[in-house]
Amino acid sequence: MSFNFENSINQHIKLSEESDIKLFIKREDALHEFVSGNKYRKLKHNLAQAKALGHTSLLTFGGAYSNHIAAVAAAGNLFGFKTIGIVRGEELATKIKSNPTLQFAKKNGMQFKFVSRAVYREKSSSEFLKILQQEFNNFYLIPEGGTNALAVKGCEEILSNDDLDFDYICCAVGTGGTISGLINSSKPKQQVLGFPALKGSFLQQDISKFVTQTNWDLKTHYHFGGYAKVNSELIAFINQFKLEHEVQLDPVYTGKMMYGIFDLIEKQYFPKGSKILAIHTGGLQGIEGMNALLQKKQLPLIHV
Ligand SMILES: *Cc1c(COP(=O)(O)O)cnc(C)c1O
Repeated sequence: MSFNFENSINQHIKLSEESDIKLFIKREDALHEFVSGNKYRKLKHNLAQAKALGHTSLLTFGGAYSNHIAAVAAAGNLFGFKTIGIVRGEELATKIKSNPTLQFAKKNGMQFKFVSRAVYREKSSSEFLKILQQEFNNFYLIPEGGTNALAVKGCEEILSNDDLDFDYICCAVGTGGTISGLINSSKPKQQVLGFPALKGSFLQQDISKFVTQTNWDLKTHYHFGGYAKVNSELIAFINQFKLEHEVQLDPVYTGKMMYGIFDLIEKQYFPKGSKILAIHTGGLQGIEGMNALLQKKQLPLIHV
């Protein structure tokens, strides 16, 4: 089970003439049209496991604009699994048409169950899973955000032998699965920096469960107020970055990471001559939904 092109290119991001830092971006966003970036990495071994165990359906959890929901729906469609999405927010049941992510997932055959925020919080409780088993029969369970041991294994495949001479590996962090894989396959002399896209102090522990090396750190000042929160400074940065470097960033994850990297460069956090590899984890499907929200609030839009 493979998309056949598993090594993405490292694109040079030109900094100012005076800069003595070398920055590259690994274009994982270009791995696949619909199952982009880290969501492909996280699903790969899980889908193989589901097949091996004889499962015909996948069940997972996500929010209204979730990259993970979109990826599971598309991957299920590609590889012949039924997909079930447990979606946070009962009110969304009547809003599928105006939500590009849910619309996409539906087109790919995903069946939804919309639940209240209170019920959604029970997503890993055994009672709730028992109820879901009764309702949907025998499914292969993929946790919210797709993070489990097999997902981490898939993310260990992001780095290749061509990446050994980078001093820093940077990535956006949601549930911590992606950075865990990167840490596991990095060399001890490399430093892995995570840029959490949300507030909260649980990540440190979650990541520690999956890794053995200690060559990593979280830069926690770049969440812009929380998960999927943005401001016009971030939007302007994403638009400027696209104009200058012809790389589209997303507002929930990679835009915040790259903003953080540029801020750290400016503050001379990285020693002279450092080589930095930023992982473009994808997530571009979320832009359309974010732009609809920005438009409602009469804020500047993300240029696509
Ligand atoms: C889901 C996602 C992440 C976060 O990955 P985790 O493994 O949950 O930390 C980062 N970037 C993008 C674009 C994503 O869609």
